[in-house]
Amino acid sequence: MPGSTVSGNWVSRLRHFVSPPAALEHCQFCQAPIAAKHPHLIELSNRGVVCACPDCADIETARRGSPYRLIPQNLLLLRDFAISDAQWAAFQIPIDLVFVFLDSAARRPVALYPGAAGAIQSALGLEAWSELAAGNPVLNQLAPDVEALLVNRTKESREYYRAPIDRCFALAGLIRTHWRGLSGGNAVWDNIERYFARLRSEAAGADSSAGADRAAGDG
Ligand SMILES: [Zn+2]
Ligand SMILES: [Zn+2]
Repeated sequence: MPGSTVSGNWVSRLRHFVSPPAALEHCQFCQAPIAAKHPHLIELSNRGVVCACPDCADIETARRGSPYRLIPQNLLLLRDFAISDAQWAAFQIPIDLVFVFLDSAARRPVALYPGAAGAIQSALGLEAWSELAAGNPVLNQLAPDVEALLVNRTKESREYYRAPIDRCFALAGLIRTHWRGLSGGNAVWDNIERYFARLRSEAAGADSSAGADRAAGDG
């Protein structure tokens, strides 16, 4: 048959047709397929993030005694965040990345930093947190269990975000997946940079559409 170019095109088109579509996600309550952007809930007992359809998210959020909490998708770059080097040193974070949320059951802040084996808990004293919150009242507005202060002080970065907890766990997962050897390797640092580049641009977008309620995440 003549026309190897045509044939070549056809093969690549065929490949396009047979390659599996991006896996459809399903609501973990009713099993219905869900859009790429969908609500996330957190299961308080194990800090597991659960994908839901909007209906089930509403039902669980309204249900008394539900073990789940809806994760709000407010993302804010805290431009005027104030932390001294001594305050940062008190966090004792080897990787210069940390997220801190308020644990409603334990009634205290929990600081987690991502590592090769997953998120590691840091000893963050209530006193250190109170002192930080005194200088940064936004910390008193964090919704317990579902919102975190996310700190990025890697390399030259000095970034502070009010971030949904699922995004923080996603960062921890990304680091666990890509970490190699003792220092992490180039791949993990490229991924960390990409993660924060995306966060930065989303936060800038959220700034310009101020007040818009975005209660849907992806992933
Ligand atoms: Zn559902
Ligand atoms: Zn999801």
